[in-house]
Amino acid sequence: MIQLNEALNRLQAEVLYPEGEEILLEKGLGRVLLEDIDSSIEMPPFDKAAMDGYAINSDDPEENFRVRNVIAAGDPPGTRLSMGEASRIMTGAPVPNGADQVVIREVSYEKDGRVTFTDRSGISNICLRGEDVREGQRILDRGTLMGPAEIGSAAAVGRNRIQVGRIPRVSVLVTGSEIVAPGEPLSPGRIYDSNSASIGAQLRRMGIDPFRVSRIKDTPQKIRAGIEQALSDGDVVVISGGVSMGDFDYVPGILEELGVTLHFSKVAVKPGKPSVFGSRNGKYVFGLPGNPVSTYVIFEIMIKAFLYRMMGHVYEPRMIRARMARPFNRKKTNRTAHIPVRVRDGKVFLPEYHGSAHLFALPGSDGLLTVPVGTARIPAEVEVDVRLI
Ligand code: AMP
Ligand code: MG
Repeated sequence: MIQLNEALNRLQAEVLYPEGEEILLEKGLGRVLLEDIDSSIEMPPFDKAAMDGYAINSDDPEENFRVRNVIAAGDPPGTRLSMGEASRIMTGAPVPNGADQVVIREVSYEKDGRVTFTDRSGISNICLRGEDVREGQRILDRGTLMGPAEIGSAAAVGRNRIQVGRIPRVSVLVTGSEIVAPGEPLSPGRIYDSNSASIGAQLRRMGIDPFRVSRIKDTPQKIRAGIEQALSDGDVVVISGGVSMGDFDYVPGILEELGVTLHFSKVAVKPGKPSVFGSRNGKYVFGLPGNPVSTYVIFEIMIKAFLYRMMGHVYEPRMIRARMARPFNRKKTNRTAHIPVRVRDGKVFLPEYHGSAHLFALPGSDGLLTVPVGTARIPAEVEVDVRLI
């Protein structure tokens, strides 16, 4: 059995070469940028009115300005403004040369082609050319996960296509002679398969649509055939169940028979101890114990970052710091534990949690509390990091 850190190191030791593809920017949500984006323009591209008002020279001693013209957003920059003149200007319109202030509409009184102001002390109300971004300035780094703001920023400098990491082909193989597809009747001794659903959703949340999800009975032939097929036509296989010590836990043995090198097959984590990670010819296999919380947690703490790395992104889980509302206690301390918790008003609450089969502890939980090896007790009021899920 290896420690969690060692398992993470072994995952990290796999050198991955993200493949790129060009896509339309509008399809980029959740994708990983595989190029640096430098601005090809100044932003704003011209001195721009930030308010509706009148463009003037702030040093102009004039009190009753001649309104020379009207400048709308989208108009080309006009000719130079002379002393004694004002341009009625709209937000977003180019400020004429010679003007260095836009006096707002609210303090302006225009009559018969002339305008006076009750207050000229305000700020310039001009966004200067290049004040947000200079031409050539880096706006997004390679490896950025594209969210709405990143997509907007790429668009703001004129991009409509981007280079992103190819999405790995991931298949999900759910083993267990007891599992039944939701929607089917449940016969005695059977349980519904929740792992296909939750793993599928965890993948989709990363923008990965699993290309195949199969349920297999606990027979070596079926499991072998399923893994072989998944390895031949995909990049990553996520297997649920069949990795523990039971008579019908065939997965690790079959992986070895199929020539998969196992990089680890037991990790000092709770839940998820029998988790397996292996590779064959640049294809990767994760074997997760079938209990639904184990599957969920191991996906979060191991698989997610690995898949993001395949796409070119260094995933850092979101952490928040909060204080324990009540103490946490455990007896055995030889494994790193991940406990579903709820965070309210800066306090960490432990919902009722019966262990790795208790999937219903997860809905409504905000994150996982990590309890390190050797820690038996976390007192109330102690500050801890919660990993958001
Ligand atoms: P295993 O890892 O195959 O020994 O399974 C451990 C426990 O998880 C058993 O109680 C299984 O019935 C349960 N389990 C396995 N697969 C699933 C699944 N897809 N959905 C829900 N529970 C499962
Ligand atoms: Mg099983």
